[in-house]
Amino acid sequence: MNPRNTLKLSDHAETTTVESVPLLDVGRGNQPLRQQFLAAFEQILDSGRFVGGPFCQQLEEKVACVSQAKYAVGCASGSDALLLALMAIDIQPGDRVICPSFTFFATASAIDRLGAVPVFADILPGTFNLDPEHVESLITPKTKAIIPVHLFGQCANMDAMMELSAKYGVQIIEDCAQSIGASWKGQGSGSIGDIGCFSFYPTKNLGGMGDGGMLTTNDPQLADRIRLLANHGMRPRYYHSEVGINSRLDSIQAAMLGIKMEHVESYSTRRQENAANYDSLFAASELDYMVTLPEKDPNCGHVWNQYTIRINHDSISRDVVRQQLGEKKIGSEIYYPVPLHQQECFKKLGYNTGDLPHTEAAAASVLSLPIFPELTLAEQRYTVQSLVTILQSASDSNRRAA
Ligand SMILES: *Cc1c(COP(=O)(O)O)cnc(C)c1O
Repeated sequence: MNPRNTLKLSDHAETTTVESVPLLDVGRGNQPLRQQFLAAFEQILDSGRFVGGPFCQQLEEKVACVSQAKYAVGCASGSDALLLALMAIDIQPGDRVICPSFTFFATASAIDRLGAVPVFADILPGTFNLDPEHVESLITPKTKAIIPVHLFGQCANMDAMMELSAKYGVQIIEDCAQSIGASWKGQGSGSIGDIGCFSFYPTKNLGGMGDGGMLTTNDPQLADRIRLLANHGMRPRYYHSEVGINSRLDSIQAAMLGIKMEHVESYSTRRQENAANYDSLFAASELDYMVTLPEKDPNCGHVWNQYTIRINHDSISRDVVRQQLGEKKIGSEIYYPVPLHQQECFKKLGYNTGDLPHTEAAAASVLSLPIFPELTLAEQRYTVQSLVTILQSASDSNRRAA
C-alpha cells in the first residue's frame, strides 16, 4: 500500500461548501501579486520601453537558471520558439523531423511551416511520451531532428533521445511548453537537447497575461542565431543577413512573468501535492480499475501541468463522463482529442487510422482534471467523489439492465 495513501474520500464537513471546481482559475494565482503587477506596469509605462529591455533580460536569466541552460532568448510564443529552434538548426524543405502525434498542434506545425515533413512516432501508454524504439525505427538519412515533448509536465526519456542523437547525428529540440522546472535525472528540461522551447501561455505552469515564449540552449552560437532570427535576421539595424521573423517578448509580459517566476518552484510543489492527493483519493475510492491514474517516471521531476487519467469503463464513455462532470460544475479537458496524424491538414502525409495505436487509444480515453496550484483539497475531494458517483451509477444501471 502506498504510504502516502492516508486521505479518506469522504469528509463531509469539508466538501459541503464546494459547489463547483474550475479546470483552471488564473485569478487565484494572480490576485496575491496584484500590487506587484500594477507597480511593474507603471514602471514600464513611465519608461516608455515596451519591447525587450531589462525585464526581458532578467526573465531570460531566470528561465536559463531554472532550466539549468547557459542561454535563454525570449520570443512571442511557444509556437514561435519551436519555429525559431528549427530555423536555427537549419531545417530545410524536405527534411524529416520526428515528433509525437499525441501533443499540441504547434509541435508539428512548426515543422510543416518550414516545408519539412513531420514524422509521427507513437507514445508509451504509461507516460504519454515518445516511445524511443518507435522513434529509432523511423529514422532515415533524411531525418534531421527529433522533437520530444515533455507532455503534461513529465520529461520524455532523454537518455534514449540523446543516444539516438549521438548514434544518427540528429538534433534534439525539446518541447518544454508544459515542463518549466521539470527534470530528467536531475537535469533541467530545456538544457539536455540542443534547444528547449518554452511557452508562457496562460494555461502553462508559468502563465503570462497573454502570449510569450522562450528558447534555451547551452550553445552560444545557437543562442546568437536564435536572437538574430527572432529579430528579422537584422544586425545592425536595417541590414539583414538572412530572412528571420518578428518574434519578440513584450516588456510588460516579461515583467509580469518575472514576478510570477519568483513563485514557480512553489507552484510546482503545489501541483505535485495535488497530484499525490488525487492518487490517494482515487486509491481510497476503490475505483482504480475504472480509471487509470497517470504513471510517474522515477527518472523525472514531474511538474504536473496536467493530471491526466484514462476512463476505462464498459458502460459509460469518456465523453459522457466529462459531460456529467460539467453538469456538476467540475471543469475537465481532453488533451488531446484528435491525434495530429489524423488532423485534416496533415492528410497529405498519408497516415491511416491504426498507424499509431497507443496514440489513438490515448486520445480516446484521456481526461485531464483540475490541478492548478491553488486548488483546495476540498475541491479535489469533490471532484473525485463526483467522478466515483458518475462511474458507479453507470455500473449500477448496467447491472440492472443485464
Ligand atoms: C502550449 C504548447 C505549445 C505552444 O505554445 P504557445 O505559447 O501557445 O504558442 C507548444 N507545444 C506544446 C506541447 C504546448 O502545450
